[in-house]
Amino acid sequence: MSYIDEIIQQVIEKNPDEPEFHQAVREVLDSIRVIVDANEEKFRRDALLERLVNPERQIKFRVPWIDDQGNAHVNTGYRVQFNSAIGPYKGGLRLHPSVNIGIIKFLGFEQIFKNSLTGLPIGGGKGGSDFDPKGKSDREIMSFCQSFMSELCKYIGADTDVPAGDIGTGAREIGYMFGQYKKLRGLFEGVLTGKGISYGGSLARTEATGYGLLYITDALLRDHGMDMKGKTVAVSGAGNVAIYAIEKAQQLGAKVVTCSDSTGWIYDPDGIDVALLKEIKEVRRERLTAYKNARLTSEYHEGRGVWQIKCDIALPCATQNELTLEDAKQLKENGCIAVCEGANMPTTEDATKFLQENGILFIPGKASNCGGVATSALEMSQNSERLSWSFEEVDSKLKGIMENVYANISAAAKKYGMEGNYVAGANIAGFEKVLDAMNAQGIV
Ligand code: NDP
Repeated sequence: MSYIDEIIQQVIEKNPDEPEFHQAVREVLDSIRVIVDANEEKFRRDALLERLVNPERQIKFRVPWIDDQGNAHVNTGYRVQFNSAIGPYKGGLRLHPSVNIGIIKFLGFEQIFKNSLTGLPIGGGKGGSDFDPKGKSDREIMSFCQSFMSELCKYIGADTDVPAGDIGTGAREIGYMFGQYKKLRGLFEGVLTGKGISYGGSLARTEATGYGLLYITDALLRDHGMDMKGKTVAVSGAGNVAIYAIEKAQQLGAKVVTCSDSTGWIYDPDGIDVALLKEIKEVRRERLTAYKNARLTSEYHEGRGVWQIKCDIALPCATQNELTLEDAKQLKENGCIAVCEGANMPTTEDATKFLQENGILFIPGKASNCGGVATSALEMSQNSERLSWSFEEVDSKLKGIMENVYANISAAAKKYGMEGNYVAGANIAGFEKVLDAMNAQGIV
């Protein structure tokens, strides 16, 4: 059995009940076969892949908090510090009832290669909790965030591990966590990114993941002799990534006709009213039924279904494994040209394969959504030099980074004889830099 297959088997055996982690490892290792197989003996001797798939550190802790009725609750907190070969651990904190160690490990593993692709000095990590922020009062959110940070603060710092937002963790949660970190550690430092502008946040960080997704989608289309103008776009999700993806797509001249949340989805044939969506999701924190009520020409449907709608470009921006083989077939039938992932691993393995085999351009999340973490790294730079850059400066750096990412993944795929396979290109380009750093630093 090849070294790669042995490691995939080992990961499955040693980490049972973690299917998302298996899926992420399989996808990356399959893509780097060309590199590993050519030098298998050295890779085995240095246990390189064992070191790659085992996190440097996993932290799991109790998070007690008190609700508005005075009742105590206990959630589980996690931080997986996966790989620090190229910089301090960096990756978001997910607050969602589906969170478990397997989900955090899959996200942390993906983050290693994503962060490497940005070209910036950041290692891979991820964390979160099975806490559900939905329906909680501000005081309950604060109680949870303070308790979560009381434990997490022992393991993070501006030069060791710098968490950020993710599903369920937005500006409000980052604010409460930062306040608690500062109180307990007595340090005003860039330990979290996604901070408010008044206390060290970066302009354009809120927009970065969604905008970055569109910058790379545009680069992809231009490379194939097309552009965004006049394209019909389907988006899933209605959170941070989805909202700013919709906004930038519209700025580039496309029409976005869908969005969704975990209970239903909207079809708006006139194009999503992004100001209304922001008001509903960012300010009033309501469900998408409120969108339908405010915009009578739109349709609201329960459940999932955005991929049934005819579109040129599909941007899944909600959560993992939300675009299935059935959806991929429907997209193909409807003449879709490109799928670029805004969320992390939103396309199932069989759907990804189908899209690639059927000539639909496909960019995986670790490349197409890396604008968020890249801008987080720019926030770290601003915090270190005690300066704030203008929106335009950050946005233009972001655009440059995304265009570079596209050029690099495209070149890596070509170099190894897989032109147009951006999954392989992203994994190879991300892996090469981490490999080089791991080799240089010895067996640690
Ligand atoms: P948000 O919490 O802001 O929004 C998530 C959106 O997806 C919401 O509309 C949510 O609906 C929906 N959603 C979440 N879970 C599910 C589910 N199980 N089924 C259906 N819908 C669901 O998160 P973000 O926009 O920040 O993150 C979205 C994705 O992008 C995630 O995969 C995240 O890891 C990834 N990502 C985020 C980055 C960032 O900078 N924010 C950076 C890179 C990747 P509801 O509100 O009803 O739950």
